Amino acid sequence: MEWKGKRQSDNFEDRRGMSGRKMAFGGGAGAIIIALIAYFLGGDPNQVLNQLQQGGTDTATSNGPLELSKEEQELTEFVRVVQASTEDVWSELFKRQDENYVADSLVLYREGTSTDGCGFGQSAMGPFYCGGDQKVYLDLGFNNELKSRFGATGEFALAYVIAHEVGHHIQKLTGTLDKANQQQARMSEKEANRIQVKTELQADFYAGIWAHYANKNSEVRIDANDIDAGLQAAAAVGDDKIQMQAQGRVMPDAFTHGTSEQRVYWFKKGFTTGDLSKGDTFNDPDL
Ligand SMILES: [Zn+2]
Repeated sequence: MEWKGKRQSDNFEDRRGMSGRKMAFGGGAGAIIIALIAYFLGGDPNQVLNQLQQGGTDTATSNGPLELSKEEQELTEFVRVVQASTEDVWSELFKRQDENYVADSLVLYREGTSTDGCGFGQSAMGPFYCGGDQKVYLDLGFNNELKSRFGATGEFALAYVIAHEVGHHIQKLTGTLDKANQQQARMSEKEANRIQVKTELQADFYAGIWAHYANKNSEVRIDANDIDAGLQAAAAVGDDKIQMQAQGRVMPDAFTHGTSEQRVYWFKKGFTTGDLSKGDTFNDPDL
């Protein structure tokens, strides 16, 4: 992928110098210890944990000047270039439909950060999009996880992840995301998961659409090897793979992103066709 020296997006927020203090109590070993103390003192550990998670404040204090390793600096430039490329591609596609594209912004953070409408974001959740504030949240530590845990190497894997999150932003702008969320609120968990899978696969399709137009309508250059890396990433983060790793078995009802095969299929469909009308996962009889 050719990206060095290309336009970097200004729709970018660097929160890596902030500490989400809530994290210190909100999860992990600290929370377990506090829950144990509550248990032995006769309190309800769940209640204590809930209070900790809700009551903690995201103090967002600055930890002094932000020090980035060379690798982090390079990754930062990379994600800003990818973000810029998604802006160029989607602006053009919206313009064709006489619409104005209002871009999401990309937030880099470490460990934990507050969102406007999506609760407290934590790295453990992986990269995510928040419709409430129209921001994509990313902890660059995820890039290591892509490699070590999911075996998705190559820089395009991270580009695919960002393009997928921007895909959710497209769904927000078209009204699809809110409609899906409203439907899910009235459904059983099993049905809600089905809607979630359709939502996720459409975001994969949109990631493919971005890849299709990136060379023509933005400054980055993508080649066949990158697409392979993107497909590999899509396959690596399929729910069946993740569930196998986490639990040693696959439970289709609990799928919320789609299987590896489905994710690859929809990314590829967007990439090969470049045709937005082919991405209606919601009315696809096979899903
Ligand atoms: Zn998603």
